[in-house]
Amino acid sequence: MKIYNTLSKSKEDFVPIEPGKVTIYACGPTVYNYFHLGNARPFVTFDTLRRYLEYRGYEVRFCQNFTDIDDKIIQKANQEGVSIDVISERYINEYYVDADQLGILRPTYQPRATETIEEIVSMISDLLDKGFAYDLEDGLYFDVSKYDEYGRLSHFRLEDLLAGAGERVSAEDGLGKRNHGDFVLWKKKKDNEPAWPAPWGEGRPGWHIECSAMIKKHLGDTIDIHGGGQDLIFPHHENEIAQSTCSSGKPLARYWMHNAFVNVDNEKMSKSSGNFFMIRDIVQKYSYRVIRFFILSGHYRMPINFSDELLAAATNSLNRIIESVRNLEFVGSHRSDSRFEDVDSESEALEKAVTEAKEAFINAMDDDLNTADAITAIFMLVRAANSAASQNGKASAISLKNALNMIIELCGVLGINLTIDAEDEGVPAEIMLLVEQRAEAKRAKNFAGADAIRDQISALGFVVKDTPSGPQVTKQ
Ligand SMILES: [Zn+2]
Repeated sequence: MKIYNTLSKSKEDFVPIEPGKVTIYACGPTVYNYFHLGNARPFVTFDTLRRYLEYRGYEVRFCQNFTDIDDKIIQKANQEGVSIDVISERYINEYYVDADQLGILRPTYQPRATETIEEIVSMISDLLDKGFAYDLEDGLYFDVSKYDEYGRLSHFRLEDLLAGAGERVSAEDGLGKRNHGDFVLWKKKKDNEPAWPAPWGEGRPGWHIECSAMIKKHLGDTIDIHGGGQDLIFPHHENEIAQSTCSSGKPLARYWMHNAFVNVDNEKMSKSSGNFFMIRDIVQKYSYRVIRFFILSGHYRMPINFSDELLAAATNSLNRIIESVRNLEFVGSHRSDSRFEDVDSESEALEKAVTEAKEAFINAMDDDLNTADAITAIFMLVRAANSAASQNGKASAISLKNALNMIIELCGVLGINLTIDAEDEGVPAEIMLLVEQRAEAKRAKNFAGADAIRDQISALGFVVKDTPSGPQVTKQ
């Protein structure tokens, strides 16, 4: 597999530290609200990376954190007059409501910052001992001038950062900082703020140190892949590298993967322009499965544009796959192979399409997780299978079944579950009963009765179609 590494700005062969095993860390949500489409993109992207590596036989250990101590959480807790735990607990639960339905597997480790304080304090102590950190009145800071490689990931020059990189450097507090780019490791306690004990005074961790400490605790000093949105490259990931490397003396991650932004109607999504969509709002109109499919329909390093038109297009595309799967299940279980003479050659052609689709899918995913081309490969198979399952198709029931299973398998690698148990697309038992009664009426040549039942089925939102293999039901 090739992975585009932000460090080298090039696609590199992926070689894990330990053969057959992969460690991945992805920065998780700050839990003070529901998450929006921009947050969902990295969650879905790195979940898909994990699923794909597992599909290829790797044993993956995947860690994604919850930032459960932060200014915004404290602010919300104060507004509601509750403790920060109430807020973070609530939004961790809400995170799972959306994440589970988006098909995001639970990570191997899901540490919370407040459960990692001991490791955070120990890493900061280490940085102090080694001379990379210093103590000011309001907190402890990392001295970026002590780390020569600072700026390597973001490809900014240290001199520029030291001279004051203007807008690129976030303004933390820190009166008396040695360099403009120095960042906070530990915020000393202010009134009405939660605090934890530390040798240099009680307080709470900065955001960057939390990820460094969690990676070390759960995955070790050096991991294979670190992921996140491209907005995290600087300063967050640059700071993670500085902290971890200066404390352990080893590189933090071998491959750095960053997904591009989500735009809304071709504009950058932002709170101020009012085009800011929570997943919870979008699912009023589109299903979770469509949202995941939409996110994966573009390559993760390209910006994706969110618009009603494109979501409607994603809905149609996904429905084409779902309909094909339903059709293959139906035809496959009704087709009798003995009727046809050309069954062998047509089955062979379909088997070939199955093998080729899998190859094309793997080639696409091996090419820096190109999910867009992987979906194209699935559609190649959908077309071949649809034609094999059509009235004129003569492929055997078993080859139709193989095509069906491959479509389900490849969609499954992308986290798109096509097993027909989803209540929104499945056909309820009461409808199946009506379909049966209608068939009964037709057999008894009671056509008026059969038509009446068809109208009843239609009134309940389903369409029944007579095919050579028997009646077929779909949602209207
Ligand atoms: Zn992080």
